[in-house]
Amino acid sequence: MDYEVVIGLEVHAQMLTETKIFCGCSNKFGSAPNENTCPVCTGQPGSLPVLNKKSVEFAIKAGLATGCKIANKSVFARKNYFYPDLPKGYQISQYELPICINGKLSLKVNGVDREIGITRIHMEEDAGKLSHEGVDKNSSYVDYNRGGTPLIEIVSEPDMRSSDEAVEYLKQLRNILVYLEICDGNMEEGSFRCDANISLRRFGASKFGTKTELKNMNSFRNVQKAIEFEIKRQFEILEDGGSIKQETRLWNADKNITESMRSKEEAHDYRYFPDPDLLPLIVEESWVESLRRELPELPSDKGLRFKKSYNLADEDIDVLISSKKLADFYEETVKVSDDPQSASNWIRVELLALLNSEGKDINDCKVTPQHIGSLIKLINKGSISGKMGKSVFKEMYETLKFPENIVKSKGLVQISDESELKKIVKQIIDKSPNEVEQYKSGKSKLLGFFVGEVMKQTKGQANPQVVNQIIKDLIG
Ligand SMILES: [Zn+2]
Repeated sequence: MDYEVVIGLEVHAQMLTETKIFCGCSNKFGSAPNENTCPVCTGQPGSLPVLNKKSVEFAIKAGLATGCKIANKSVFARKNYFYPDLPKGYQISQYELPICINGKLSLKVNGVDREIGITRIHMEEDAGKLSHEGVDKNSSYVDYNRGGTPLIEIVSEPDMRSSDEAVEYLKQLRNILVYLEICDGNMEEGSFRCDANISLRRFGASKFGTKTELKNMNSFRNVQKAIEFEIKRQFEILEDGGSIKQETRLWNADKNITESMRSKEEAHDYRYFPDPDLLPLIVEESWVESLRRELPELPSDKGLRFKKSYNLADEDIDVLISSKKLADFYEETVKVSDDPQSASNWIRVELLALLNSEGKDINDCKVTPQHIGSLIKLINKGSISGKMGKSVFKEMYETLKFPENIVKSKGLVQISDESELKKIVKQIIDKSPNEVEQYKSGKSKLLGFFVGEVMKQTKGQANPQVVNQIIKDLIG
C-alpha cells in the first residue's frame, strides 16, 4: 500500500463521581428509569447548574496523568442541538477553552516506541438515553438518568498510524483512568467510548487526506476491526481514482462493515456560546499541585517498580499491570508465597487461562491470592509436585477449597522419602536387566524410562528430583 494511515481518537469517559456534574442527583448506573433526575438535569425553565467540584478534580487528575498542562481558566459553553434525550436543547461542554491541553501518551507497539500527542481534555455533560423497546411498540421512551453524568473528552493528535497503535493507545488510556479511579472503563456499558477519525495520504504528502469519523465501537476488538475495514474501504476508493467523502460512519458489528450515518453537509451547526449561567472556571495552581501529590502509582511507574522489586520479564509485567486489580492481586500473592516469579507464572498462565476460557477477567475472580500463595508454598516445600499443583489449582478454582485441604482429601502427597523411593527403584532395576545394560552402555535417554516406571508405581507422587538422583546413584 502506497498510503500512510492517519488516525486520531476522541474518547468519552464517564466520571465515577457520586453525583452529576451540574446537580445533586445520584450518578449511579442501573437505577430504575428517571429515578435520578431533578429540574436541572431534566432542563426545567429557571433551574440553574452548579458545578460539581469533584468532576473538576477528576478531569485535572486525568490531565496530570497524561502530561497535560492544566489551564488556569476554562469556560463552559452551550452546544446547541435538538434531540429528545437532551431536554435543555443544548449540551454544556467546554469548547474554546478546555481544562487540559498538550499532553502525551507513550506506547510500545509491536516493539516500537511511539508517542501520541493529546490535544485537549475537556469536561462536558452526558445526554439521556432513548429506548425503543418499551411496552408500547409504537413509542420510544426516554431515560434521563444518564443526562448530566460528568464526562471528560480526551482528544488525541492524528498521530496514530495503524489499528494496532489505536488499540494500544485506548488500552493505555483506559488503564490510566481506571488506575486513577475516576472511570470504571466499561466499554460495553458505554462508560468508556471512542470515536475514530481516519484518513489516508500518499507517503511523503504533507497534507492530510479527507477523513471519515467512525462511531459505535464498544470493544477494543470492534475498534480494531472497524479501523481495519475503514482503511481498506478508503484505500480501494482512492486506488480506483475516487475521492473520500467527509462523513460520519457507524460500525455495524453484525455485518462487520462501516455504514454512512451523515455527511458533512448534514452536520450540525452547534452555535456554541459561553453558558451565561456558569462562571469561567478558575483553577488555582496550589489546587493542581495538591492533586498532583494525590495521584496514585500509574501503570508505567508500577511497571518500573515490578521490574526492580520482583525482577520479572517485560512480558510478565505488561500483563500484570494491564489492570490495577490484577497488579494488586499479584502483589498480594507475592506477599503470601514469597515467590514473585512463581506467583507471576501461576497467575499469568493458569489463572488467566481459566478465567479467559469462561469469558471472565480478574474482576470476576473468586480464587484469592491466599489460595494461590498457599499452593505455591506447598510446591516450594516439596509437599506436592508442580504437576500435582496444576490439578490442585483446577480443583481450587472450581471449588474454592484451600490447596492444603484438597491435597489432604485426595491423599496427594509427594513422596520425597529417599528410603521409600529407593525400594521402588531397586524393584524396577531388578525387573529390567536389558534396560539397565543399555543405560550403562551409554544410552542415557533411558533415564526417562526408569523415572516413568517409578511414577507409574507411585501414581505420579514421587518427587522426580529425588528419583533421578537415586537412579543415577544406583546404576549411573
Ligand atoms: Zn439532577
